[in-house]
Amino acid sequence: MIVAGDSFPVGPAGGPDLPAPRPADLLAWYDAHRRQLPWRSAPGTVADPYHVWLSEIMLQQTTVVTVGPYFQRFLARWPTVADLAAADLDAVLKEWAGLGYYARARNLHACAQAVVARHGGRFPADESALLDLPGIGAYTAAAIAAIAFDLPATAMDGNVERVLSRIYAVTDPLPGSKPTLKALASALVPAKRPGDYTQALFDLGATLCSPRNPCCVLCPWRDACRGRRDGIADLLPRKAEKAAKPTRRGVAFWLTNARGQVLLRRRPESGLLGGMMEVPSSAWEPGADLAYTRALAWAPAAVDWQRLPGIVRHTFTHFHLELTVVRGHLVDDGAAVDGVWCAPADFHDQALPTVMRKVVTWARSGGKD
Ligand code: SF4
Repeated sequence: MIVAGDSFPVGPAGGPDLPAPRPADLLAWYDAHRRQLPWRSAPGTVADPYHVWLSEIMLQQTTVVTVGPYFQRFLARWPTVADLAAADLDAVLKEWAGLGYYARARNLHACAQAVVARHGGRFPADESALLDLPGIGAYTAAAIAAIAFDLPATAMDGNVERVLSRIYAVTDPLPGSKPTLKALASALVPAKRPGDYTQALFDLGATLCSPRNPCCVLCPWRDACRGRRDGIADLLPRKAEKAAKPTRRGVAFWLTNARGQVLLRRRPESGLLGGMMEVPSSAWEPGADLAYTRALAWAPAAVDWQRLPGIVRHTFTHFHLELTVVRGHLVDDGAAVDGVWCAPADFHDQALPTVMRKVVTWARSGGKD
């Protein structure tokens, strides 16, 4: 077991030992400088587990600034986890549109239902029971356990990894150094106020200990920080080189009818953007170039397709996507097509993911920026 203050892989400069970082110093700083966030309880009050859970799911891969309005809208519409469990999945996906990573919205809904079914509508005050719920991974379970129930759990996110790697000058690159950082972080969690301590660490990473140019002069842990002492703080954490993201390509089919409606289609329940609506598109395939004529085999109707200039680009976690948009018009309104006709004025009611909103904008502009 690693104990805070032990020796571990350190930076090149070495030097005399520094004191161990003291949770009490971080808590004192937090009491004076904590961020005001919509999902945070007032100082000295207990956080609502539903609020903590909702915000943590929304914050995965998304910024605090982006999440704020979504969080407020969700709470206004579904004030309790039971309300969210009873909601229509499509309504949840619609409210989520724009936050990306739609599997999270589906899991959000499934989790609310599981909390109601398994726990009577109350989140369990237990890290392993939280981990059993849909869409809750190790980080989120620990964050809820700590913040909502004041349990001594260790929530490791990118901010915490950055702070810990600097404090202890851990020079082994991520992700290989994760177990070391987790052990160091666990050794520091105090028995008193672990929830505030966890949020303090988040705040330190999000404010002073920023990825570039950390503001060490104001840091409550500056005297204990080996990265600062060795002059390598802003080089940490080191990261193993990532493979370049591949690019996939496809064709999106903007099909209109005589009433000015556009054909939309629901994506399969499983897989990327599962259950979301889309402008019908071909498969998204890797490769240097799209076989355009082959992609037309996915067209939702046999009409005269006109290719719009330019490309719609979007980046997912694991790949870049380039979509060519083609426009066609279906004269025969009675022809059978796979999908639903929708007037553009009603698109705001559809659970269209960001990439498809880009396609809509592109098609409606005729392929002009
Ligand atoms: S002293 Fe600087 S590098 Fe070290 S934890 Fe504080 S802000 Fe980060």
